[in-house]
Amino acid sequence: MKKILVLLAITALFLSCNSTTTDTLNFVIKPSEINEKPALEVTLSFVPSDSTATVLLFQDQGWGQENLHNLVHNLRIEEGANEIIQKKEKDHYVIKHEASSEKITISYTLLQDTEGKLNTEKAIRPIINEDYFHIYSHNFFMLPKSVIDQTGDSFNVVIEWQEFPESYALQNSFGGGIAQQIGPISEAEFHSAVFVGGDFRIYEKTIEGNKVVFATRGEWEAFNDNDIVNVLESTLKAQRDFWEDHSQEYYLVSMIPTIQEQGYSFHGTGLTNSFSTTVSNNEFVEIEGLVYLFNHELQHNWTGKVIENANEEEQYWFSEGFTEYYTFRNIAANGIYELDEAYFVEKLNENVKNLVSSPVLAAPNSEINYENFWSSYDYSKLPYFRGSVFAFILDMKIRQESNGEKSLDDLMLRIKEDAVSKGIKLDHDYFLETTNEFLSNDITPFFETHIVEGKPFDLESIYSEFGLEYNASSEVFDLGFSFDDDRKFVAAVDEGSQAFDAGIREGDKVVKLSYMRDHRKEAEFTVLRDGKEMNIKYFPVNQANIPQLLPFESNLQKLGF
Ligand SMILES: [Zn+2]
Repeated sequence: MKKILVLLAITALFLSCNSTTTDTLNFVIKPSEINEKPALEVTLSFVPSDSTATVLLFQDQGWGQENLHNLVHNLRIEEGANEIIQKKEKDHYVIKHEASSEKITISYTLLQDTEGKLNTEKAIRPIINEDYFHIYSHNFFMLPKSVIDQTGDSFNVVIEWQEFPESYALQNSFGGGIAQQIGPISEAEFHSAVFVGGDFRIYEKTIEGNKVVFATRGEWEAFNDNDIVNVLESTLKAQRDFWEDHSQEYYLVSMIPTIQEQGYSFHGTGLTNSFSTTVSNNEFVEIEGLVYLFNHELQHNWTGKVIENANEEEQYWFSEGFTEYYTFRNIAANGIYELDEAYFVEKLNENVKNLVSSPVLAAPNSEINYENFWSSYDYSKLPYFRGSVFAFILDMKIRQESNGEKSLDDLMLRIKEDAVSKGIKLDHDYFLETTNEFLSNDITPFFETHIVEGKPFDLESIYSEFGLEYNASSEVFDLGFSFDDDRKFVAAVDEGSQAFDAGIREGDKVVKLSYMRDHRKEAEFTVLRDGKEMNIKYFPVNQANIPQLLPFESNLQKLGF
């Protein structure tokens, strides 16, 4: 774990030294403006190597964004160099200087380049306005490549925040305050960070001696700050206790509101010592949904980060599916937001339903690849559904075979220990070998059949085998019709469906639509037929043979509650 040192008391002394050493990057950040628009002025000082050119890393493309060089204005040399050349296509700039140059100082002004209402997509780029700034590190700090190379990618960063109003909160992935010393740190860790300042409300909590900070702003419509602070505190404590890992000395969660008229959206990014989120600020935001999302995303600190997949998508059944399973379990087991065992059973049932009604239910694991995962909703959800149901089955198997002495928890901790102490990444061979140590029968054939080949689980017989009580059929989401490729017309309608009963017909042009993939939420469509518009509403529900666990005490005991 890297050391984070936040200098507070000795700020004055520290600022007056301002020495430049070969392994340290010195940044000074000040408020500024360009054409009366709020901006941030960044000054960087460093010691160059004895060559005559230094590459300054600053991505022009990243995180799905392009033209990030457009953010940089008024780039200039303050001392020690002759010229700066932009190399947009190479994601950097080049400074020309004398080989004897002892210290180089450059400055640039960072300006927001998006306009209009802030939505999730725009929030990926820097936000700099009268009230606040919210910037990801790679869009903020230029890094001289020579310093990274000379230090073996383990350099120090000093940041001084000057001339900001006293009321201005300053917080980021490395701490807060007006003088920060960060490092030694790698390029990847430093550039995976969020920096916020302005009218943020900062909440500090201590968990087992470690600091957790929540930074938010704006007027939330659907909840107050304390609800979220409590959820975060109990979530982080529960997860760290579960993973027996309280090693993170500082952790920041930042949350800013975005504007969205309909429904709600949540976007989260896991970063160094931090998690940054944007949430649409409207009445549709449900805290229970946020509880789930925070728990899922923070769980990735271990499943995904500490325990790395050997081949990204190939092990999504683990990094997404097992994350999903432990999201439900940890929320229920710890009573987060007062949710209990019934929540666990409900969520597990929901995932079973989603899995069984997935159009790609029987797709082999090899089809959960980069291309499908990022282009198809059904493929992108499959590892969550299949993996969480598999985690549940495995948990039951271990509990049954060990007479309740062991559970999947023990296997998870073992995998974490192997990752931490031996650097083992999660691949299928390692997973099977380690899992078999917790079972008397080899799990390999089951894993090959249902995870690798994708053959659906026979859940009724699995439930019976574990002595679990269940309903054999349930209500599922069923839109009842399909769209054409452009999603403009109704391509076909299932005659036994609610859609048909409500009046949707093949060939209808869909002018307006509003529905969620939830059979309990009414779907609404405006269709155009023979020049006439019609409003059609119905519940997109159907009966299906999908077993659902009952929240009976006998079941809960078997599930380990
Ligand atoms: Zn995830």
